[in-house]
Amino acid sequence: MNIAILSRNARLYSTARLVEAAKARGHQVRVIDPLRCYMNITSHRPSIHYKGETLDDFDAVIPRIGASITFYGTAVLRQFEMMGVYPLNESVAISRARDKLRSAQLLARKGIGLPVTGFAHSPDDINDLMTQVGGAPVVIKLLEGTQGIGVVLAETHKAAESVLQAFMGLKANIMVQEFISESKGSDLRCLVIGGKVVAAMKRQAREGEFRSNLHRGGSAALVRITPEERSTATRAARVMGLNVCGVDLLRSNHGPVVMEVNSSPGLEGIEHATNKDIASTIIEFIEKNGRPNHTKTRGK
Ligand code: ADP
Ligand code: GLU
Repeated sequence: MNIAILSRNARLYSTARLVEAAKARGHQVRVIDPLRCYMNITSHRPSIHYKGETLDDFDAVIPRIGASITFYGTAVLRQFEMMGVYPLNESVAISRARDKLRSAQLLARKGIGLPVTGFAHSPDDINDLMTQVGGAPVVIKLLEGTQGIGVVLAETHKAAESVLQAFMGLKANIMVQEFISESKGSDLRCLVIGGKVVAAMKRQAREGEFRSNLHRGGSAALVRITPEERSTATRAARVMGLNVCGVDLLRSNHGPVVMEVNSSPGLEGIEHATNKDIASTIIEFIEKNGRPNHTKTRGK
């Protein structure tokens, strides 16, 4: 097959591994910077142009679109979809996953366990909102944050009130969550490919930190997940409509709860923790499913 990887940088671990795995399995593969793609969207025959050439012979596209370029990146991906190119994850599903409130609402609607979560716009509603999520301690999240930046643990009502007032004053979008203290600074990253958990790791926050992100100094280890955790992860992936994703779970007293579904899961941490060749599993999935004009939404 002829595969495009939409990525800003061919040297990133995940991008490089996908290139390597695609080549090893006999495919042609090219890394395309989504920010250098441009297109005529009014044409009857959708096309994509790249540094002066026309990109018209790809069979499949692997989106590795960073959170900071979601808007433009998904537009480029949508154009590939309109041309009938098979996307590993569809643009609609990626946009959905990037919106934390929308994701939480969709998952809750399907009965998937979440930390008790609230959101509000006006500082006048802070007190009532705090009561609704069960009172302090709470975790306050900036909706635009990634890699744990913008995630704050407020241990008292007073602290929560000031942080919420400050964020709201800055016109930031936030959500407030019950703090799952029983997970003791750890979470589970389940990598789902084609409706199956193909690898899982436990991430543990470093001493004195509640956020387990590897970027925040967390460490990763192999873990055996329970059947309930497995089914929560695969159901979350299905609800979000993602063929490949990282589902982050917390082990709470009321069962596994989904914290986040990541549509561009990093491969480095999970491949090292589990010693599995995830990149090749992704390419195999494309070989099995990557037929032209085979998307659910084609960007709609
Ligand atoms: P990001 O998308 O920026 O990584 P997350 O929502 O995943 O933000 O939160 C970062 C980390 O903070 C998580 O990996 C987890 O360790 C911790 N965390 C987040 N929400 C909660 C919560 N409700 N209870 C306990 N820990 C949490
Ligand atoms: N940069 C991300 C992080 O560690 C990795 C992508 C992912 O979450 O899988 O937060």
